[in-house]
Amino acid sequence: MTHTLITGGAGFIGSHLSEALLARGDQVTVIDDLSTGRFENIEPLTANKNFRFALETITNETVMDRLGSECDRILHLAAAVGVQLIVNDPVRTIETNVMGCEAVLRVARRYRRKVFLASTSEVYGKNNKVPFCEEDDGVFGATTVTRWAYATSKALDEFLALAYHRSQHLPVVIGRFFNTVGPRQSAQYGMVIPRFVSQALRGDPITVYDDGTQSRCFCNVRDVVRAILLLIENPAAEGQVFNIGSVEEISMRALAEKVKSRTGSASKITLIPYEQAYNGGFEDMRQRIPDIQKIRRVTGWQPEISLEKTLDEIIEFFRRQPKA
Ligand code: UDP
Repeated sequence: MTHTLITGGAGFIGSHLSEALLARGDQVTVIDDLSTGRFENIEPLTANKNFRFALETITNETVMDRLGSECDRILHLAAAVGVQLIVNDPVRTIETNVMGCEAVLRVARRYRRKVFLASTSEVYGKNNKVPFCEEDDGVFGATTVTRWAYATSKALDEFLALAYHRSQHLPVVIGRFFNTVGPRQSAQYGMVIPRFVSQALRGDPITVYDDGTQSRCFCNVRDVVRAILLLIENPAAEGQVFNIGSVEEISMRALAEKVKSRTGSASKITLIPYEQAYNGGFEDMRQRIPDIQKIRRVTGWQPEISLEKTLDEIIEFFRRQPKA
């Protein structure tokens, strides 16, 4: 029976991963300090004898050492994420992302554990290429613009993981997530779909930023979980970086309309200028599409769940848990 340590396992993606592994009969240990994760996400799993939860930060070396020694592999998802959190608390973002990843890699090296590092499409920065290939440049803005602290911290995590692979032969694989969505993603951290859905269900205005022509590709978390497991279990993926995302593009204006019609909401759709939305200090990407040929070639993965189905799952989740 494989024993997986999931850092950030009480978070949105981590809890879905835990669930998928337990469903296969695997053993799962989650370490999470519940800074952005929620105990409710993993509460149903606590009844499973193969599940264990450590309420602790990954920078606690003693605890990480013990958990690292006991597991077979590590899925590192613990990070400070979300636009609002980054703008509001840059120190925590940088420290959690950089020191946390260092701590995980050190333990992995000590016990020779394979690591999956969760990274982000943010590492392409403001490169405006469409679509993004794994080898494309990261184009970061000035250090005075807070957004780039997040991108830079995750890029440094990637550098570090690749350096451990090259110089210490640590088996690592890096996945760059593009706008992962699904039930349990909180509306509190600025992500667009949970915000639109909770606004629509409350009957509040749906806040489309700028003119709403900017677009994204949203990938269902269950598709992302499948990609992570295919990557960590494939020796050919070691030492490499993979985009993980959907290629189904939608504008924020069209997204707002879809959310409104699928919830049957009477909400107005309002356009909000960027300065008002983000209090300055933020630059938005107009378009962000992954090239997913590499992961498809190596693992055969491709997204299977449509945006409509995903939206219905999220709407159902917020109807049950309006405060999420
Ligand atoms: N966005 C929006 N209204 C909101 C929140 C976000 O129009 O209430 C837009 C945002 O400007 C961006 C897109 O939705 O263009 C995706 O934002 P999110 O923060 O979810 O993801 P990211 O920008 O990191 O891709």
